[in-house]
Amino acid sequence: MTRIGIIGSGISGLQLALRLQQLDIPVTLYSAHTAEELAAARPRNFPARFAPTQAREERLGVHAWKSDDARVHSWQITLHGEGGQLEFAAALTPPSSVVDFRLYLPHLFGEFTRRGGDAVVGPVGLDEAARRHDLVVVANGDRSMRDVFPADAARSPYTGPQRILASGFYHGIHEDVPHSLDIHFLPGIGEILRIPFLSRLGPAHVLAFEAVPGGPLEAPAHLDADADPAGFLREVLRLLAEHAPSLRERVDTDRFGLIAPGELAQGGVTPVVRRGWAALADGTCALAIGDAWITNDPLTAQGANLGSHTAFALADLIAAADGPLDATFCQDASDRLWDHARHVVDWSNAFLAPPPPHVQGLFGRAAADKRIADAFVSRFHDPVAMWAVLSDPGGAEAFVAGCTDDGRAGADVAHD
Ligand SMILES: Cc1cc2nc3c(=O)[nH]c(=O)nc-3n(C[C@H](O)[C@H](O)[C@H](O)COP(=O)(O)OP(=O)(O)OC[C@H]3O[C@@H](n4cnc5c(N)ncnc54)[C@H](O)[C@@H]3O)c2cc1C
Repeated sequence: MTRIGIIGSGISGLQLALRLQQLDIPVTLYSAHTAEELAAARPRNFPARFAPTQAREERLGVHAWKSDDARVHSWQITLHGEGGQLEFAAALTPPSSVVDFRLYLPHLFGEFTRRGGDAVVGPVGLDEAARRHDLVVVANGDRSMRDVFPADAARSPYTGPQRILASGFYHGIHEDVPHSLDIHFLPGIGEILRIPFLSRLGPAHVLAFEAVPGGPLEAPAHLDADADPAGFLREVLRLLAEHAPSLRERVDTDRFGLIAPGELAQGGVTPVVRRGWAALADGTCALAIGDAWITNDPLTAQGANLGSHTAFALADLIAAADGPLDATFCQDASDRLWDHARHVVDWSNAFLAPPPPHVQGLFGRAAADKRIADAFVSRFHDPVAMWAVLSDPGGAEAFVAGCTDDGRAGADVAHD
């Protein structure tokens, strides 16, 4: 028997496995896929990993991509509105890391096994895993165990996706500012993002449509880009021209396209918080982490970062446990993990609604003062601090005052 069994080889399961291995805690990782299969899949997501996640990767010795091709140093933000648009640029300090998960996950998986980690490939059932371990951690990222981890209604305000997504790897877009990201906020309609990204075929751009359901940005999510690539691209360009013309101007139409057939993810994510732990029939317990516990809309770019944070926090709790990994341990662990995660959930859910007046005001101040813009964007690293700024007008005021007093607010990463 090994002590901990982890089901799932996404960022949450792999970082937990690597961290437990580093702490000499016996662990078995169950992965539905081999590292080669993870590398060969269609893209499912495009996670930007912020500084605290990269710092954890450094501690694990798996932070492998340090060239500027895999980094975003600044954001160009456009807030569209009826009375015109507000534009500003902001430095992201430190930069985020933007690596295709079909490179990232196989690398972490390979390191875990190269260091002697016990990995079992193929789907595994919860009861089967529970028989083999003191504690099972479910990090499988999906809803397949939703009967065991039902949605927590008090923490889950939505019953369906709040955005319909069509995101892919493209080439043929010029960058105004090297290694910068563009985000266009279109209140009531959704968002359009362009993010430089290190894809498995080299440097590329992620172009992402986040459509309010039923709105005009939804079309690319429903088109078959494999069957009719030209029709798909025509629609993408039409939407850019209509809703993000400054981005459309930077497209080189002769070169524009997906980097290869199939390099597109379409669909919707229903934000949900599930019960964090469950007592199993045989008397053992299971904890859920990552998307298996909390799924956020990707707009605030937090899901993978939260999965990494939770993996490390849980590893520390397991290492510090001086009693059985039973219901009392799981309840306590789940409460402690929620203490951090709730800020991510509240912020991510709030960002899906049109900005309230104090957030519009903050954007206006950021457009007028680069110190505020830089500090605001750099707070994406720190969901606790970010939610303190955005959750009420007083927080926004204090943040602005802090930026202009010493010009340094937000540069630190205080809560990780
Ligand atoms: C379009 C898009 C953009 C995003 N952008 C960002 C971003 O910028 N920043 C950010 O932080 N997050 C982002 N996210 C969210 C992020 O991708 C997820 O939160 C994160 O990948 C979740 O990781 P996970 O390890 O919890 O789950 P997953 O990534 O889903 O991994 C779970 C793994 O478990 C395996 N598995 C499933 N069932 C079993 C089983 N029974 N046995 C064994 N293995 C199993 C699966 O095959 C999978 O490999 C984005 C998501 C999307 C969709």
